Amino acid sequence: MQDTPSVIEINNLHKSYGELEVLKGVDINAHRGDVVSLIGSSGSGKSTLLRCANLLEDSQQGDILFKGEPVLWKGNAHHRRPADAKQVLRIRTNLSMVFQQFNLWSHMSILQNVMEAPVTVLGRPRDEVEEAARGYLQKVGIGDKCDVYPAQLSGGQQQRAAIARALCMEPEALLFDEPTSALDPELEQEVVRVIKDLASEGRTMLIVTHDMKLAHDVSDHVVFLHQGLIEEQGPPDTLFGSPKSERLRGFLSATH
Ligand code: ADP
Ligand code: MG
Repeated sequence: MQDTPSVIEINNLHKSYGELEVLKGVDINAHRGDVVSLIGSSGSGKSTLLRCANLLEDSQQGDILFKGEPVLWKGNAHHRRPADAKQVLRIRTNLSMVFQQFNLWSHMSILQNVMEAPVTVLGRPRDEVEEAARGYLQKVGIGDKCDVYPAQLSGGQQQRAAIARALCMEPEALLFDEPTSALDPELEQEVVRVIKDLASEGRTMLIVTHDMKLAHDVSDHVVFLHQGLIEEQGPPDTLFGSPKSERLRGFLSATH
């Protein structure tokens, strides 16, 4: 949606781990309400790109803008890091991540898991957060699981709890890193349904996924990464329906 403002804009991003150049000049732009999916082989740099976007990783070169506000850096081209801790906190809390392995706190109930960051990181009033948390757990279909611990839930329920936790931060965008990869196929679908609901509500999302049907069904724009560069990108019907590059064609036939 070109007529809405950019929530996340990344220009010419370069990221290395030592000698290993993982991102070699990548551009991503998600306007408000956009769902952008990242696909590509294992090791192509998808997770690294998400982690750079919400400043969990430093990078060497390029611009990252949150709602038009550029991340400020200090250091040099070989080793730069964000200069402003408050800006990092603002951006990170506004780009809520959902991980492949759920990452729920095992010693906290599901409700406590969802409430923890809004209360401790954002300093929001506990009673207000509790009401919101119960609402989000309801929304993802596990409103009856508030008082149980993560180990008592199926993988699909745990991932839905992790999505409720991300939502309870009331972020500008959600970042998903292979949210269904750790799940059995039948549990995968309950998480896919939640992601589709969020897409239809017009939430801004960046989704790394191996699930081409999900990428096709929910995305406004799909980006195919190959060895740290965008090999091809476009609307899902075009990208999946008439892929141009040999590599994308190979990748798509290997994933079916
Ligand atoms: P993808 O998510 O597309 O599978 P990643 O972004 O996880 O790819 O990884 C891209 C490359 O970066 C891989 O070669 C991986 O081994 C390497 N890599 C990722 N994280 C680290 C790290 N913390 N230290 C060193 N190398 C890393
Ligand atoms: Mg990954």
